[in-house]
Order: sequence, then C-alpha cells, then structure tokens
Amino acid sequence: MAHIRFSAGSPSVRTTTAGVPPPGRSTPTRAGPRTVAVARRCTEIGLFAFAMLLVLRTWLLEGLVTPIRVAGPSMAETLKGPHCRIRCSDCGFDFAVGANQLREDRSARCPNCRFLIPDVGPLEVRPGDRLLIDKLTLALRPPRRWEVVVFRCPRRASQYCIKRIVGLPGETVQIVKGEVLVNGRRVRKSLSQFRKMAILVHDTRFRHGAQRQRPWPWQATGETGWRSTGAGFRYVPDASRQTPEKTRQVEWLEFQYRSGSPAKPPDAGPILVSDDYGYNQSLSRPLQEVNDLLLVCRVKVSGAGELYLRAATADRLFEARLQPAAGSGQLYADGNLVDQLVDREPFLGGPQLLEWTTIDGTCRLVVDGRLLLGYTPAERAGDARRRGTTAVATGKTAEPVAVSSLWPLGIGAVNVEVETANLQVYRDVYYTKLRTAAGRDRVKAVQLGDDEYFVLGDNSPVSLDSRQVGKGSLVPADWLLGRPLIRP
Ligand SMILES: [Zn+2]
Repeated sequence: MAHIRFSAGSPSVRTTTAGVPPPGRSTPTRAGPRTVAVARRCTEIGLFAFAMLLVLRTWLLEGLVTPIRVAGPSMAETLKGPHCRIRCSDCGFDFAVGANQLREDRSARCPNCRFLIPDVGPLEVRPGDRLLIDKLTLALRPPRRWEVVVFRCPRRASQYCIKRIVGLPGETVQIVKGEVLVNGRRVRKSLSQFRKMAILVHDTRFRHGAQRQRPWPWQATGETGWRSTGAGFRYVPDASRQTPEKTRQVEWLEFQYRSGSPAKPPDAGPILVSDDYGYNQSLSRPLQEVNDLLLVCRVKVSGAGELYLRAATADRLFEARLQPAAGSGQLYADGNLVDQLVDREPFLGGPQLLEWTTIDGTCRLVVDGRLLLGYTPAERAGDARRRGTTAVATGKTAEPVAVSSLWPLGIGAVNVEVETANLQVYRDVYYTKLRTAAGRDRVKAVQLGDDEYFVLGDNSPVSLDSRQVGKGSLVPADWLLGRPLIRP
C-alpha cells in the first residue's frame, strides 16, 4: 500500500524545546520575586501552548509542525509522491512523472501529444505533496464514497496510507470492466466528484509541431467549414458549398485520439482512449479502453441554427442537438429522445464554459455549471424500454448515426457560427481487476464487514489497495485518521 512519510523529528520534542527558555538566561543567579513570577508565567504559557498543540494535532489538524508528505505513487496525479516535472519538447505540455517511474533510456512519452521525447535532460526530484490531515470532519461524520482519506496502513500501523473510499461498511464491492459495482449496481459519480479525479487526455492549448507530420487529435471530417484557431476551432458555414440538400447537413469536428504505444505508433491512425498514465513512464502493461470521458471547452455560438454534440461509448451513442438562440435542445441515447430543454433563455451567445460528459453510464451537458440536459440509465430494463417507445411515438427520434467508437467525441454545426477554445478532454479512472491473495483475478464480490471500508488508489495500475483481496486490504473504521488537505 502506498504510504505517507513523516520528516525526521517529532512535534512534541520541538515544541517542548521552544517552550522552555534557554538555560542561563531564564534562571538568573539572584532572582527577585518579580523575576520568578515572570519565569513561572512563561512556563505556564509554554505548557498551555504545548497542550493546545497536542489537542490540535490529536483532534483537529496534523502536519502543521512536522511536515507530512506523500511518499508513494498510488494516488497520482491527485496527490503526487516524489516526482520530476518534464516539459514536452514538442507541444510544451508540462507533466509529472513518478521519480521511480522514469525510463532507463531517459526518454518519455508526452501524455498530451504522445510525442516520444528522446532525452528528457537533467531532472530535479521534487518532494511528494505536503499534506495537512483534517481530523475534525471524520470525527463528526462518517466518510463518504469517493472521498480521499488518510488512515493507518493495515499492514504497517506505524505508517499512514492515503486512498479514495469506494465501498462503505456492509456493502459488497466488485470491479467489472474498470467500473465499481456496489451491491451489484454500478455506482455513479456526480460531476463535481468526477472533476476532482479526472485525468487529462488532451488539451488544445498545447499544440505539437506541425513539422512532425502527426495529425492533430481534433479533426474535421471531409470538406467542412471547421478551421483551427490555435487553441481552438472556428466554424463558419460556407454558403458556396451549400446546396439545398446540404443546408441541413451536420459538419463535424471529431476527437480522434492518437496512440503512443509501441504496437501502434502515433501515425498509425486513431485508437481508443486508454487508461495510460503519463506518471508511470516505465510501467509496461496492456492498456484498457476508457469510455468515460469529459469534454470541457469555451464555446460561443452565433446564428439561429443548431449545435450538435456527440459521445460514443462502448454500448451507447449519445447526441445532443441544441438550438442555443431559441433556448432549446434535445438529448438522444441510441436515437431515442431521453431529455429535452424547451423555451429556456438563450445560451452560448457569449463564450461560456461547456461540459459534455459520459461517465458511469450517464450523459450530461452542463453550461457555466448549470445542467441543461442529462440522462441516467433506468435501473430496470422495463423503464428503458418505455422511454424508447415514447420517443418513437412522439416522432422525436433522431436517425441512428453510424459512428466509430474510435471517434468518441464530436462537435457538429448546422447553419451557425461556432467558436471553441481551450478544448480539454479528460477520462475517468479505470480500476484494474480485483486480485485473490494468490495474485489471480477474482470474480467474486468482496463483502465488507460492518466497520470496514473498501479503498482504491487513483493510479490504479500501481496502487496497492483493497483490490488485493486478503488480510489487511480493507480498512477498519477506527483506523481512519482524517481527510488530506494539500499544503503548498
Ligand atoms: Zn507533447
């Protein structure tokens, strides 16, 4: 299990030393009654301060005096252990790599543009993130799912561990295709929970050099009105190319992710977004496809036409059709209308922050923090069927669109001018499989006791956590210490 390291020295020793006046000065040879009173007062204040510090450390906040730093890679990049920072020599993206995860040949793959940096040059090892432990919150309420907690390491009580709470007491936990199932059902994160643990896949603000002949991940399909503007894209309908049949045709800008794995060089064409980590440069393992994505960008739409958004997961195609000037929009799942926005105030008229996401089976469109369209799959199959039937009956069904899941995200335009900037694509954590004590894949769910928590690290491929089923992998409630606060 990854752990936290304390710097040398204990707070009580330091505080005691500071509280007692240096010998020689505090005890004059001929002390008058006034001097003795002052000395006593100083000692009282010192002892009181020491007692307060002990109370503070025990019940409220630990790490103020003795620095507590993250020592392992299991929570990267939410919380980093000792690491180096590398700037991509092609796109300029700055990223962290675990200090013990550097490649021997000094090369590194940029997690943003997938460029293989041949030599990263001299690197400085930075200490792990410094933490304060907030002990009060968990003294007042039990920990919540997806919350990061610090606890005594079950396998070594003298050390602290830090992980994310995934299973609560009494629940059964399973991991299937990277997702967490609790009591047999997929657990869903809120968008704010997802934002805290999302891993960046690509950011258009860091653009790789054109001379390297590597295509840009965002591609306009065919002859369209989409043009690059540096950190984003602009769409202007081209009247000269529009025939009566084409005026309703959607022109797409699609996210075509490029591989960087040795089996598929960057020029080999698009691949699926995978659970690769820039932090683990030296780790060699099979990568898994990740469908849970979030697109964040600034968007401005002018005109009375439509803006389209598309997201393809392994088993579903989501499409939002928006009429921003009319304040309306529709969300389709596999061609069936699942949500709509009617007669609301116009949106995206000025640049606004748009979030379009498919996580844990849901689909959401959020503009400036406000949910406009959303879909959560029905728990029972019958509910899903009823929804689909309604959509067909009201004639609101969109034509099914053939889309390759190699192009998981798309922005489309019909008769509107669109300006997008700072397009960032994030992915969810893909949890690798549960393991038996013997190290084999475990299919059976883990049953938690009445006081046990199931915890996972965000850097799933290297994290030692509750997936390693066996003695000491679950966390008893009374081993929990608090919540980490990052201290710069
Ligand atoms: Zn790069």
